[in-house]
Amino acid sequence: PYKETYNVQRKGFNELRQEHIHFFEELLGKHRAITDTPNLEKYNEDWINNLRGSTPMVLKPKTTQEVSRILSFCNENNLAVCPQAGNTGLVGGQLPVFDEIVISTELMNDVISLDVASGVVICQAGCILENIDKILAENGLMVPLDLGAKGSCHIGGNVSTNAGGLRLLRYGNLHGNVLGLEVVNANGEIIDCLSALKKDNTGYHLKHLFIGSEGTLGFITKVALQCPPRPKHTNVAFLGLQNFEKVLKTFKKVKEDLGEILSAVEVMDYKTMEFVNEKLSVKSPIGEYPFYLLIETSGSNSSHDGEKLEAFFEAALQKHLILNGTVASEPNKVNAIWSIREKIPDGFKFCGALFCYDLSLPLEHYFTIVDDTTKHLGKLPQKVFGFGHLGDGNLHLQIELHEFSKDVKENIEHFLFNRVKQLKGSFSAEHGIGFLKAQHLELARSENAVKLMKELKKLLDPKGILNPYKVLPRQ
Ligand code: FAD
Repeated sequence: PYKETYNVQRKGFNELRQEHIHFFEELLGKHRAITDTPNLEKYNEDWINNLRGSTPMVLKPKTTQEVSRILSFCNENNLAVCPQAGNTGLVGGQLPVFDEIVISTELMNDVISLDVASGVVICQAGCILENIDKILAENGLMVPLDLGAKGSCHIGGNVSTNAGGLRLLRYGNLHGNVLGLEVVNANGEIIDCLSALKKDNTGYHLKHLFIGSEGTLGFITKVALQCPPRPKHTNVAFLGLQNFEKVLKTFKKVKEDLGEILSAVEVMDYKTMEFVNEKLSVKSPIGEYPFYLLIETSGSNSSHDGEKLEAFFEAALQKHLILNGTVASEPNKVNAIWSIREKIPDGFKFCGALFCYDLSLPLEHYFTIVDDTTKHLGKLPQKVFGFGHLGDGNLHLQIELHEFSKDVKENIEHFLFNRVKQLKGSFSAEHGIGFLKAQHLELARSENAVKLMKELKKLLDPKGILNPYKVLPRQ
């Protein structure tokens, strides 16, 4: 439970009363204003079962106007709310900490328009990422982001966390790909910034305030997204390497040889492979190596792309950069190789306790942090392992313990976050701050930067009803 583990105090919001329930039931009907305990369960638990909230009510609006009415009422009545999309977030931002009312985007799932010529899709915030991608695929387009949670996460959740994912290397992050947003303020005002233009410098770029603000500054209701053409052919290589020095040299060569068709570069260490093998019986297709690299190319000419990847592979073997590997272009084989990488988070559900850290580091220090953490913790953890989006300098460091320990958690975080700071890295690369890291924000941002964040919060949400206890440090 949040309260005991994290020592957090409930703020002075009002508790939900019968008259409030009556208002929401009138607005949405009983089937979209849920109060019965069994149906509240899934909105109170996170994906890995690490955290638990206790909302007494989940609201499921279908339109921007309904969101506006809900927020205006909550603001007037001093009721705290927690926006929730696909509930796949990994830092607890989407869960109520106490009894905040959950506003779910589950039923805000209309694709409003698709302009095939410009590649701009406009949709409601609750569209599931994979569903948007399927519609785009029929039109030769794709969403510019891809992540393991694509079958559940909503585009509004992705935008609110500024999700990165597997192809950021090629398509960049959502600050570049989101053309416009429609947002509802804490007091219910609708802010229409839903531009579908690539170039639009009219005044302040307000949309950027909401991208990555994790539901603390406004509720996103619509998104306009720039979508690239869908590559016709995809090839992957799965490589075994001796050490991290070779990983970096190979990465350099990958960029030199495959630059214009490169779409992903993922890395995992031996212990990650051991972990997916233990938890999910997934095996390496090329035997056991200290490190593995997954390289993907995407382009329009399969023989050209295939030849380039093969040539790179042969050269890397000859130069002893890699020890072994396999190359695939047939879709089933490509998917089988990707599934090794994408399945890693599924194993998280089978751990006694798992601490997940999402770090950005200069490449020279990318993997030393795993070794440093292993040394620091000695024999304490069951396993310390690392994998991630090497192409973006983003490492997912995992620490598996037999059981949860508050003291160990504090010890790890004190060590790790200070070390990351020393190495000029970031302890939130793509997952956000949410609830779990809010107390550490001041370690990563200057005093004046945190002060400005607090002032922005005060300006946009004076009563602090939007996702309290998240992102900003608690007093
Ligand atoms: P939720 O988890 O429901 O919410 C996330 C945050 O956004 C919360 O703070 C919530 O309050 C807020 N929010 C949600 N909707 C709105 C809205 N409409 N308006 C305002 N605020 C809102 N992340 C990556 O970046 N890269 C990855 O590669 C990646 N891989 C993942 C793989 C797996 C298997 C899983 C489970 C997660 C992964 N994630 C990854 C985590 C990632 O942050 C989420 O998957 C995703 O971006 C969150 O979307 P969601 O719809 O589930 O949002």
